Amino acid sequence: MFNVKEIRKDFPILKREVNGKPLVYLDNAATSQTPKQVIDVITDYYQNYNANIHRGVHALSQEATDKYEEARNKIQQHFNAAKAHEIIFTSGTTHSINIVANGFSSLIQKGDEILVSAMEHHSNIVPWQMLSERTGAVLKVIPMNQKGELQMDVYDKLLSDKTKLVFCNHISNALGTINPIEEIITKAHNVGAAVLIDGAQAAPHLVADVQKLDVDFYAISAHKVCGPTGVGMLYGKEKWLNKLPPYQGGGEMIAEVTFEKTTYANLPHKFEAGTPNICGGIAFGAALDYMNKIGFEAIANYEYELLEYATEELLKIDGLKIYGTAKNKTSVISFNIDGVHPYDIGSILDKLGIAVRTGHHCAQPIMDFYKIPGTVRASFSFYNTIEEVDVLVAGVNRAKNMLL
Ligand code: PMP
Repeated sequence: MFNVKEIRKDFPILKREVNGKPLVYLDNAATSQTPKQVIDVITDYYQNYNANIHRGVHALSQEATDKYEEARNKIQQHFNAAKAHEIIFTSGTTHSINIVANGFSSLIQKGDEILVSAMEHHSNIVPWQMLSERTGAVLKVIPMNQKGELQMDVYDKLLSDKTKLVFCNHISNALGTINPIEEIITKAHNVGAAVLIDGAQAAPHLVADVQKLDVDFYAISAHKVCGPTGVGMLYGKEKWLNKLPPYQGGGEMIAEVTFEKTTYANLPHKFEAGTPNICGGIAFGAALDYMNKIGFEAIANYEYELLEYATEELLKIDGLKIYGTAKNKTSVISFNIDGVHPYDIGSILDKLGIAVRTGHHCAQPIMDFYKIPGTVRASFSFYNTIEEVDVLVAGVNRAKNMLL
């Protein structure tokens, strides 16, 4: 049974105060909080078996290697990847996307087309722009409507045999839209294009089955799923990962090195140069264990209740407008109040102990689309409560009265 009161006991940080008020943490889309089950795994690593992996013959190195590879297996199982070596440990979604964008430099030619959705995070735009500058490939945008839904009829028209790559987020960080990625992937494959899905915002709310989706690449960050920062994953189909050249050169990623020539290691090591975030990888596995124990279905159902309630209550505030009203959306609410700058609302909420994000949320094209400087974004997790929604709504009312 899902019991939010019990779940909150797992998160030490939720007990703290900010500015003399109980913390109300509603910036989960930026980073999630860490339960003690994961913090304990981090402590255990540094207290008991901190060592470099894949190299030492000694016991600590072997233990650390086993735990790290065990974490890779957990991640493989979680996303139902066919093979463990299709899971590459990275420093996070941004790193994962850059591995693919860099690798495609040798597979893309002038005049080829790459499609991007209009609601991407900058980390799923800029690497592809850099790719298109390097190669002469043309970057085209799948537009969205006022609700923040992709215009799939335009997508159909943009696809052609020139399309080599499509990249899109599973869920938008700024709007909460859940994109129809099954359809996006199937249609891209019909014209022979590869697809990268940025799963950074989806991973905390749902489980993507990469084989069922038939997706070519899927990227996530551990810090959005109750894990630590500085670690994440790139899933890639074996056939693609074998085609792509390595992103970084260094130790761990080689088979043999001479001054004349280097040959590369097999997957996944080819993409894992240098000493990785060993503890982070192990804690990433523990974080998925923690979330799976609660259950993603229970998490999604509960977060949907929070979303519905918060939407209803916030809309009672005169002059408040929500950006991102897609039919399928997750527990993210981006809003503004007529005549008030989002930053000012965020600053007053902070004085009340309420953590929200304000600004363009690393998605400036979305703000340009709505012709706004930014929004206030409240993003809810499974450890938030209905009472916290009430505190948010009271805080927004108070900010409005102070600022207008
Ligand atoms: N894509 C999306 C949709 C995101 O929300 C984020 C994080 N805000 C990223 C990519 C980048 O993730 P990271 O900073 O962990 O690399």
